[in-house]
Amino acid sequence: MRANQARLDFDALRHNLAHARSLAPGARTMCVVKANGYGHGGLAIAQALEAHTDALAVACIEEALELREGGVRCPILLLEGVFAADELPLAAEHNLWVMIDNHKQLQWLEQAQLAAPITCWLKVDTGMHRLGVQPEEAEAFHSRLMACANRTGELVTCTHFASADDLSSDQTARQIELFNAITASLPGPRSAANSPGLLGWPDSHFDWIRPGYMLYGNSPFAQAHANTEALRPVMTLTSAVISLRDLAPGDSVGYAATWTAERPSRIATISIGYGDGYPRLANNGTPVLINGQRVPLVGRVSMDMITVDVTDLSEVAIGDEAILWGPQLTAGEVAGHAQTIGYELTTRMPARTPRVIT
Ligand code: PLP
Repeated sequence: MRANQARLDFDALRHNLAHARSLAPGARTMCVVKANGYGHGGLAIAQALEAHTDALAVACIEEALELREGGVRCPILLLEGVFAADELPLAAEHNLWVMIDNHKQLQWLEQAQLAAPITCWLKVDTGMHRLGVQPEEAEAFHSRLMACANRTGELVTCTHFASADDLSSDQTARQIELFNAITASLPGPRSAANSPGLLGWPDSHFDWIRPGYMLYGNSPFAQAHANTEALRPVMTLTSAVISLRDLAPGDSVGYAATWTAERPSRIATISIGYGDGYPRLANNGTPVLINGQRVPLVGRVSMDMITVDVTDLSEVAIGDEAILWGPQLTAGEVAGHAQTIGYELTTRMPARTPRVIT
């Protein structure tokens, strides 16, 4: 059996949530667990968070129903709303909260025959230009929703940031200013902060925070930030050395011979590849931990294996543990060597790699 595991530390998960809440003590919390809990296992993550959060959020109704079938009872918001009118009765039946972000969704809601009314959030586009009603339409949407017999509970007005992870960009401040202007005349709670908003933009906290990525222990910022120091990565991706060999100068490694030894070199093969969630684009020099020590990836990432240069390690043996990311080497750092972001690395973790709750 291959040694690969995505080890999950749920104490770290709860610690990260407590940290998130401590940054916005007056706000309610909605934990974002879409896309299988950013690859960590949606149901297990939701079950671990449920007692400590005010609500959860997923992208779509299929993800929410999976959580309900698993016994999750707390409010769950569908961040992209419904994709067809016939999803509304299901949402009502399963007590799911629904985002309204366009005319079609509002019409479906107004015309639906529902067994029970639904809690709704209204999304306003303040600059992401992806989803949400236009600023000048917000008041009309809000009024129609307030008057809608199929709606119940508080009507939260929300928006989403485009560049909050870039602390030098002025886009977030402009989005917050516009959001304040739009909501000045709208009653009800407000929500804007994703992880980077919560961590880096205190003016964005409003009444509900919506952290995702940071709950899994990762920083959304490229640079160090005081508020991310306390975060503890939830996932540690581990594998093992399965082969060792000595190369002479001029010998190459792997497909397409993208790395060639310049000195007598010892190469360790690790049984994890892009079929297991390790990014294929990781370049020569991407750090890997063997027995806790950093060594560089050399050669192309294969489907089932990678190769690392262990020449400078005093001792390496077949069976030794390899860590691809975790507390000592963040997914974000690895992603930086692979033309991607840490969000993608954990989210794309395939079922082939077993999740093990430690
Ligand atoms: N809110 C909305 C509407 C989202 O789409 C997302 C994720 O993309 C989040 C919050 C959470 O963002 P993050 O993972 O950066 O905290």
